[in-house]
Amino acid sequence: MTKILVIEDDPQIRDNIQDILELESFDLILAENGSIGLQQAQSELPDLIICDIMMPEMNGFEVLAALRQVEQTADIPLIFLTAKADRTDFRQGMELGADDYLTKPFTPKELRQAIVTRLQKKAQIETKYTTQVQQISQQLNLQLYHDQTTNLPNRLALRKKFNSLWQHYQSEVEKNYIISILCLSLDRFSQMQSYLGYEKSDLLLKQVAQRLKALLQTQGEIIYLGAADFAILLFPLSSKQLVFNTIKKLQTQLGQLYQIKGQEVFISTSIGISFAPQDGTEIEKLLTNGKKALHKAQQNVSDHYEVYRGIFEIGIARQLSLENDLHCAIERNQFELYYQPIISLKTRKIIGCEALLRWNHPVRSTIPPSIFIPIAEELGLINDIGNWVFRQACRQLKKWQEKGFINHKLSVNLSALQFHQPDFRQNLISALVEYSVNPKQIELELTETQVIKDIEIAKKQLKSLKVLDFKIAIDDFGTGYSSLQYLQQLPFDTLKIDRVFIQNLDNNQSNAAIAEAIIKIAHSLNIQVVAEGVETPEELKFLEQHQCDLIQGYLFSRPLPLAGFETLLHSCQHLP
Ligand code: C2E
Ligand code: CA
Ligand code: CA
Repeated sequence: MTKILVIEDDPQIRDNIQDILELESFDLILAENGSIGLQQAQSELPDLIICDIMMPEMNGFEVLAALRQVEQTADIPLIFLTAKADRTDFRQGMELGADDYLTKPFTPKELRQAIVTRLQKKAQIETKYTTQVQQISQQLNLQLYHDQTTNLPNRLALRKKFNSLWQHYQSEVEKNYIISILCLSLDRFSQMQSYLGYEKSDLLLKQVAQRLKALLQTQGEIIYLGAADFAILLFPLSSKQLVFNTIKKLQTQLGQLYQIKGQEVFISTSIGISFAPQDGTEIEKLLTNGKKALHKAQQNVSDHYEVYRGIFEIGIARQLSLENDLHCAIERNQFELYYQPIISLKTRKIIGCEALLRWNHPVRSTIPPSIFIPIAEELGLINDIGNWVFRQACRQLKKWQEKGFINHKLSVNLSALQFHQPDFRQNLISALVEYSVNPKQIELELTETQVIKDIEIAKKQLKSLKVLDFKIAIDDFGTGYSSLQYLQQLPFDTLKIDRVFIQNLDNNQSNAAIAEAIIKIAHSLNIQVVAEGVETPEELKFLEQHQCDLIQGYLFSRPLPLAGFETLLHSCQHLP
């Protein structure tokens, strides 16, 4: 139902409007003064606001100005009610962005007409916007889910492909048939690339893809993951032996001669296998396990394959001792934040940084977060660690402000598990208050996989953070095999393109197409884009040419300990 907020201090007029509009079955919210009205607008997000101008506490102009300053309420159509049709009133209201005027007294017809016109205008704008976004999405989806070099679906398509396969073959799976995920990699591909050059290597990849298609035909789906890597989803087979037979055939055939522009080339492959449902029922898990098996296979002779086994998870002894140490790491002051600058491509200057956690282990020196964060999550320590990180970040932001870096932005990574803690929001608020920092300067980074696990929950959670005025970034975009449609549904301010798509942008056509498409779609949704892991001037140039907003990467600076980062800040170093 259409929600209309009426802000009017005169009870008689309020009643009058209520009588007229309730006949039209609108959902009405009434507010008796400007500041209550403003609060209602922010919490209820009505479709239209009718607002008196002359009111005690906060007049109509002040209400309108406040509404226009906040993203969520900025576009709500507003009709002013005024007793005196004074020209200066008119002008002031229109300058602030009022959509219409009604002069009191008005007839029911006038009121209805004004409302209908405004709602129609709003609907028109929304439809136009949605169709535009849909059109762009459709065009880009095709580019985005498809690799141009190999003419195969790409890594972004993997999740969708697997899910539909999984649903389609449920009854076979129930009869103990197995779906296999093969991670196939061409051996020594980077040497091959420097030997053949990029153009011929691309032709080689193309031929490998064609051979795979011809060999597998209707037995499975082939996806190109990038570089030398393919994933193959084999349709259900009744035994593992049948899977191994298929693999042997694949490896023998792929090992036959290739003719690349008159040059003769031989390759060998390594394959890692994981089975569904035995090793997982979600593609992320199956792929991770398949890759662990691939890694083992690559350590062996050429054309080797390896099946995933739980025993790969070792280093268990090592992990056990890390677990013990991790319990005391906060108390013993062993955590430290490093800061990696984020640079604007427009101003060429540092606009902020990302806080990245390091564990200074007394014996093993610095341990990277990729090792200890998963352990902390498993042990239930991530909440304490996350709190420590956030408080430390706020404290640091405050200090920078005191030193004159007033608009410095700080990005903080969140683990999905932190969200589910009942006191998560309260902890954020306490730190904000304790260090009196403005949440607008803090961007919370969440990874894509984290967000899309449950879209409805994510919507709620993100909304509750937006209400606090935090900025929100979607991190590692592209690695979660997710879909663009989530972007439209969730309130992201920033999208961070994952490093795998930035690598070799200038030479790798499929990365270039993906990066370009991601930038376009993000911009069409008013989301700014950060490219992560920018390492070379060529990658930078590409990103500049394609209107990327911000970059982060070793090219400008690695993550630095506080002192090093501050030296960099004070040096005012910028991109040439
Ligand atoms: P991330 O959020 O994607 O952070 C970016 C990672 O890319 C960092 O790794 C950074 O050092 C690395 N990087 C930046 N530029 C380049 C480049 O040009 N080339 C290469 N090769 N790498 C680059 P780091 O610091 O090891 O962090 C790894 C991950 O650990 C982070 O990935 C993030 O997911 C997680 N993490 C770090 N700090 C925290 C934290 O405080 N809380 C949580 N929950 N996770 C954290
Ligand atoms: Ca991050
Ligand atoms: Ca990232």
